[in-house]
Amino acid sequence: MQNKKLYGGIEAGGTKFVCVVAGGPSHIVDEIRFKTTMPEETLGRAIQFFKPFAASGQIHAIGVGCFGPLDVNPGSPTYGYITATPKTGWSNTNVLGILRGALGIKIAIDTDVNAAGLGEYKWGVSSGHDPSLYLTIGTGIGGGYIKDGRSLIGLLSPEMGHIRIPHNHELDPFVGNCSFHEDCFEGLASGPAIEKRMGMSGAMIPENDPFWNLEADYIASALVNYILTLSPKKIVLGGGVMQREFLFPKIRWRVRELLNGYLTSKSLLEYIEDYIVPPGLGNQSGSLGAIALAMQLNETNNDPRI
Ligand code: ADP
Ligand code: ZN
Repeated sequence: MQNKKLYGGIEAGGTKFVCVVAGGPSHIVDEIRFKTTMPEETLGRAIQFFKPFAASGQIHAIGVGCFGPLDVNPGSPTYGYITATPKTGWSNTNVLGILRGALGIKIAIDTDVNAAGLGEYKWGVSSGHDPSLYLTIGTGIGGGYIKDGRSLIGLLSPEMGHIRIPHNHELDPFVGNCSFHEDCFEGLASGPAIEKRMGMSGAMIPENDPFWNLEADYIASALVNYILTLSPKKIVLGGGVMQREFLFPKIRWRVRELLNGYLTSKSLLEYIEDYIVPPGLGNQSGSLGAIALAMQLNETNNDPRI
């Protein structure tokens, strides 16, 4: 039966907020986008947008896919808070509490990448593929892993951008730019790492620059680790850097080379172009993922994230 109910979704990014009221991808009723400024002003604008929909009973729940670091442990006193962030004014912001207090409806919160992963799983390119992995390679690198239809949260939310990958210092003398680990995956391969190493934005580097082989090698190294540990049935690569579509064949080729025939799945050996893919929802994975999160909250009575 088709679900005609409406839900609210917030893609709460460090750069911009996207708020939507929707019943699904083909039923978007209203949408607003604005820059992320100070918390009071930014959350205030989101509240203003949703208030009439919540007050009139048009929306039943809101999902929030939020930038981090976010406390996702429902048992923690700071559950739903953005914790220690370098983003001015946002450290210790009770995002979930502020929204709940003002809107008085059920609200679920998860990380931005988990929400995007959920959106791709519910309506996008990883639909029907469980478990699946969504990875964004942009200002930061993060991954959302969907298993049994839900995002994986453990001790904390996974921090897939900060894994260690081989770094050949002779080939790539760049020390890395992660403030915690220097040359972790994010420190080597994120948009800002590219810009710092090359002196120009990734958008400006020509396709035939040999740098892209290095970038593809880093991304492939990380993917091989995720494939071997998490065994996703689909890998979705999003984020600004992945706008360079020529990276996809390079990454796929290198993943196969690194695995060296060890895993015998046809997805890897024969159909890898259907296995490592761009998002099916384009730049809407995050906001629609937030809608999917709201739906999930509405459907379950025992959701620990209520
Ligand atoms: P965010 O991660 O902040 O949500 P994006 O996913 O758009 O935003 O990532 C922004 C980063 O991606 C920036 O570091 C930018 O330099 C890089 N970027 C954006 N567009 C491109 C492009 N076409 N090619 C390569 N890098 C890009
Ligand atoms: Zn790091």
